[in-house]
Amino acid sequence: MPGTLYLVATPIGNLQDISYRAVDVLKSVSVIACEDTRHTRKLLNHLDIKTRLISYHEHNEAERAEELVGRLRQDSVAVVSDAGTPGIADPGFRLVQRAIEAKIPVVSIPGPVAFVSALVASGLPTDSIFFGGFLPSKKNDRRKTLAEIAHIPATLAFYESPRRIAAALADCLEILGDRRAVVAREITKLHEDYHRDTLSTLASEFSSATCKGEVVLLIDRIRDAGTSAEEGLLLTDRLAAIEAEGVDHKSALKRVAKEFGISKSEAYRIVQAERRGNP
Ligand code: SAM
Repeated sequence: MPGTLYLVATPIGNLQDISYRAVDVLKSVSVIACEDTRHTRKLLNHLDIKTRLISYHEHNEAERAEELVGRLRQDSVAVVSDAGTPGIADPGFRLVQRAIEAKIPVVSIPGPVAFVSALVASGLPTDSIFFGGFLPSKKNDRRKTLAEIAHIPATLAFYESPRRIAAALADCLEILGDRRAVVAREITKLHEDYHRDTLSTLASEFSSATCKGEVVLLIDRIRDAGTSAEEGLLLTDRLAAIEAEGVDHKSALKRVAKEFGISKSEAYRIVQAERRGNP
């Protein structure tokens, strides 16, 4: 009989956030695959768990996945990441895919996810959310990504390094317009805080101060899609970006209309109005 692959969520700061079920599973499996054995050993010592650890990280993910699937044919295995839920901006996905292909049961042991914790305390709408993982670190790539997702009618959530948060906020302001946003820092830890403001205020605040710790960036959705000044500006910018790739005006208009979920004639109307300065 095959074992079970357990994806076990662990704390993102406060060790008390481990679940009873997570402890039971981590005690019962034959091995725990983790990103950094020294890091996870500290958590296990705190919980008095003696289970063997093996490393499973982005650099050995493919080969380890094969090895772990072999083991899963007889024994159960747990996967944890350094913090939060494995597979969320962390390794896990490849192994889950391989286990499913090998008809091995896959079970999630839920717990902390940084962007979900940030979202629910942010004060931004929670009905629809787009999680973009880490924003690209290079400025041009980041701006391109932002332009591509600008029109999504959902709260946007990203992971970001504290070193890049000021640059990211500046690009968000420029590409997305001055929306409401939240920088959630050090969630569940001693210095947890939430900066809830507009992108323009946050961009200026973070440009003049050093940011420390771990951060989640949340941004409000675009308002009145298809008609607002903000939307007009975005659409025109996106059109220019597509044309800059060498695409002719007509095809670029068609593409931008598709991306924004509107008709070509509506996209044309918005671009013309924007050019007249009258959205
Ligand atoms: N698997 C994790 C999860 O479920 O959220 C995410 C791992 S990802 C490698 C690490 C990033 O998550 C950090 O750079 C930060 O953006 C975010 N993060 C993790 N813990 C956090 C915390 N306590 N407060 C704020 N952000 C956090």
